[in-house]
Amino acid sequence: MSSRIILIGPPGAGKGTQAARLSEALGVPAISTGDIFRANVKGETELGKLAKRYMDAGEYVPDEVTNSMVADRLAQDDAAEGFLLDGYPRTSAQVDELDRILAAEDKAIEHVVELTADTDEVVARLLARAQTEGRSDDSEDVIRHRLDVYEEQTQPLTDIYRSRGLLRQVDGLGEVEDITERILSTIR
Ligand code: AMP
Repeated sequence: MSSRIILIGPPGAGKGTQAARLSEALGVPAISTGDIFRANVKGETELGKLAKRYMDAGEYVPDEVTNSMVADRLAQDDAAEGFLLDGYPRTSAQVDELDRILAAEDKAIEHVVELTADTDEVVARLLARAQTEGRSDDSEDVIRHRLDVYEEQTQPLTDIYRSRGLLRQVDGLGEVEDITERILSTIR
């Protein structure tokens, strides 16, 4: 079974956790642009140096940079039969690029799963993650800014996918296992 799925939702909604579990359940790779950027920051690559400035400020990395990175990743063999995108697309220019990449291969997104969670809950989760993971973009100011950027630039994308009939909203609050089941039952 092929699955081409986008996971969308505010920072702290649990996209990364669910992406890993869904990847296992569906047998397709979870592709997280945030993870790819963090690996590049850690490896001190040119891409990492460029991305770090934006990430630390809670801003989006420029579209051209992000788009070409995703185009390369989706061209790899393991993504041929499906993938789960975690954290991409986040802007309308990224939606356009993804459309272009898929159309060129006669492929299409099947589901866009929006994980919903209220702001107080996601701020609390991100502050807790700051304690355990020490991510440099998890300070309270940067967290609030990331949520604003999400609301302005990414939340509107749900309307695009709703109008295409692809949007499935799933409550991101509750037990991790239950949320995975909710997602699997909406996409099956
Ligand atoms: P995440 O782990 O998904 O929260 O991403 C961490 C950071 O990486 C974001 O705050 C952005 O700075 C950057 N990033 C991740 N994905 C994207 C994207 N699709 N477009 C632009 N920047 C991104």
